[in-house]
Amino acid sequence: MSLEAAGAGEHSPLGHVPSQPGWNCRACGLAWPCGPARESLIAEYEGNTTALSLYLAACLHEAIDDLRELDVRSTGGCGGVFDRFLGWIDQQPKPDQMPPHEPRVGP
Ligand SMILES: [Zn+2]
Repeated sequence: MSLEAAGAGEHSPLGHVPSQPGWNCRACGLAWPCGPARESLIAEYEGNTTALSLYLAACLHEAIDDLRELDVRSTGGCGGVFDRFLGWIDQQPKPDQMPPHEPRVGP
């Protein structure tokens, strides 16, 4: 079963989901996860980098299986896919390093 069939599309309401087997974004055509997809994933996982890493590791494994079947001249091969899928997560600000939320103004 593909990750898309398993609900991966739910992670990107704006349509920045991977197309398989090339693993480029369906919306913008960039290598997935593109910037909007990363923002969406961070928002969805709400700082739970462990769960996000597990999800992206599953994507990484599927991407490696797909990309190695394709012509390396068109995909760039599997080199760098670890950084592409998982290397950016640690670069995100930790919840305790994020700026405080604006105080709510309520009735
Ligand atoms: Zn995109």
